Amino acid sequence: MATGRGKGTFPGGVHPAEGKAISESRAVEAVPPPKQVAILLSQHLGAPCQPLVAKRDKVQAGQMIGKSESFVSAPVHSPVNGTVKDIALQSHPVIGRVTAILIEADAEGNTPQTPVFNRFDHTFSPEPFAVETICGAVNDGGLVGMGGAGFPTRVKIEPNPAMIKEVLVINGCECEPFITCDYRLMIEGTWQVLAGIRLAAKAAGVEKIRIGIEDNKPLAIGAMTEAAATVKDIDIAVVPVKTKYPQGGERQLIRSVLGKTVPTGQIPPTIGVCVLNIATCAAIADAVVLSRPLTHRVTTVTGHAIAKPGNYYVAMGMSVADLLDHCGGLTAQVAKVLMGGPMMGFAIADLTTPLTKTSGAITVLTQDDVTKAKYEKQQTPCIRCGRCLTACPEGLNPTKIAHAVKFNRMDLAEQYYMSACIECGCCSFVCPANIELTGYIKTGKILVARAKKRMQA
Ligand code: SF4
Ligand code: SF4
Repeated sequence: MATGRGKGTFPGGVHPAEGKAISESRAVEAVPPPKQVAILLSQHLGAPCQPLVAKRDKVQAGQMIGKSESFVSAPVHSPVNGTVKDIALQSHPVIGRVTAILIEADAEGNTPQTPVFNRFDHTFSPEPFAVETICGAVNDGGLVGMGGAGFPTRVKIEPNPAMIKEVLVINGCECEPFITCDYRLMIEGTWQVLAGIRLAAKAAGVEKIRIGIEDNKPLAIGAMTEAAATVKDIDIAVVPVKTKYPQGGERQLIRSVLGKTVPTGQIPPTIGVCVLNIATCAAIADAVVLSRPLTHRVTTVTGHAIAKPGNYYVAMGMSVADLLDHCGGLTAQVAKVLMGGPMMGFAIADLTTPLTKTSGAITVLTQDDVTKAKYEKQQTPCIRCGRCLTACPEGLNPTKIAHAVKFNRMDLAEQYYMSACIECGCCSFVCPANIELTGYIKTGKILVARAKKRMQA
């Protein structure tokens, strides 16, 4: 059995406090349907959806309510039976305000959706499902990478003669501190996750599957290893990897699990690799086998100020405020509410912000957490210690890029490979001068993207 310490690693990285004990032992619990949801029309990388419904229309749970004809996009669905109250701008966790379909749920007839872990077991076979059926269900179900990137899953897994995929790497690392939703899925929904992995492998046409899991999750390693041992029709193995942030970065995981490097500026399929995360695989099984579109997901609600932290099965479009209320509300003075974890999450000021397909966690930080994490310590000049260079998993020079952005020299920032930054936050984390290097780099990338858009217009 592939348990024990993981050897696989990558250059750079950091070891932040894990904070997972708050929620890791809490079983997934279904949240009752919210009274209202706001379904954002842009929850993915690619073209935003256009509404398929109008104000006052009645909608059913699971009904497609928005889609785009673009190749890179994913449709959205209603998680409840209800009535379209409005189509209006709404806070997005990352990109400001975007159009959303606001739905008022019917007072009667909305039963809580629950996970379907017990619908899968060791007898599952992908054999009856044709590649086109898998890709069609994944597309129509609105699946996107649920680990945070939000890239449409159909585009990732469907056959592409220009980029033949040989290996499917499954990201079971969940390296971001505090978050435990994928961990719970691997333990409670082992067979569902495995079914999704096998369906994705069939669609992608790979010969080999490797499941990378950090070695601080022995129960998940044990469960997935035992389940994988029942599969005889493809080369599949669990690979324990070192616990180190950002082990779950696509490029870092490929290095740790396969010993291969994805060249700078290129994507994993260029070296024959497709990477999917655990929640996405569970959603593939849901969509293909049970025809359930992506309307719910497991989200970790965590932090030292939550009355009932845990892992919740929650409707997309529910507001952060409603979810926090369901979790018993707040017990201490809150300094920050993050969509995501403390390394890569986004602070949100508007708690009416709805949950999206990529909302893996809500982390509530107290003033004490913030002070300990040195987020608000005073910035001092760079002392040229080089720690940010050593920590950067992409081998970049964060201080030079940040400096170029600060002085509005985007041409220089680009020459220092700013676009190769994966925004992991390691450089800011180690900087003894408290310089928000990642913040500068994120800003620089936004400015470059806007300038490109202006030139195209
Ligand atoms: S420069 Fe980017 S990739 Fe490198 S450590 Fe900083 S945030 Fe991470
Ligand atoms: S870690 Fe901070 S102080 Fe050290 S070289 Fe980088 S920017 Fe300068």
